[in-house]
Amino acid sequence: MRKVFVILLAVSILAGCMDMETQPPSLPTATEIPFTSTPEPDPVTPTLASPSETPTATVASDDFFTQMEIPLPEPICNGLTKKQTEGPYYELDIPERNSLIEEGMQGERMILVGYVLDQNCQPLPNALLDFWQADANGEYDNVGNRLRGRQFTDAQGRYYLETILPGIYPSRPIEHIHVKVRPAGGDDVTTQLYFQEQSIDGLLRPSDGLKVRVEDKGDYLLGYFNFVVQP
Ligand code: FE
Repeated sequence: MRKVFVILLAVSILAGCMDMETQPPSLPTATEIPFTSTPEPDPVTPTLASPSETPTATVASDDFFTQMEIPLPEPICNGLTKKQTEGPYYELDIPERNSLIEEGMQGERMILVGYVLDQNCQPLPNALLDFWQADANGEYDNVGNRLRGRQFTDAQGRYYLETILPGIYPSRPIEHIHVKVRPAGGDDVTTQLYFQEQSIDGLLRPSDGLKVRVEDKGDYLLGYFNFVVQP
């Protein structure tokens, strides 16, 4: 009996060894597989674009008119805007801007608005307006660009200028703003705008249709003037 048990045990062990040899090698478990996926790129710290690169919505001119609650009246055209002398203080290469107001600037704040129109009273988009004026003391900045600025009319032919009421100076005892208007593809029209009914020295003629219609809004003056030019 003992002999039979030993034989059976031996057969059993031999069979076990044969099973081990015929079994396919087991696949490595997940934990054994080396992780060879593409390494993650180094994290990149997001950087803020510089102010000049930051996309900003262009503030349309109509935003200004809407925000300031300044509706422009339907234009009435009575001939071309009269030309006047350029004077000695015109400068080239002045900055493009709608506001000439600077911190600490003295003077009564004024907003000048209107259209640039053709002879048929049709608005002229993209017309150049070039403004220059004296400060509240009647002095021009002939070194820098103070109280000088150029701009283009918007798609509706409108412009707006934030400035101050200019002062007078001995040779021109009347408030005035110089301006050149150039319709797209057209020639310059050089003139001056006035704020009084009567000229003082007899040489200035605001009655030539160059007087700005002014409304006192309390904390600022609102001036309306439309230019009529030949495109
Ligand atoms: Fe002047």
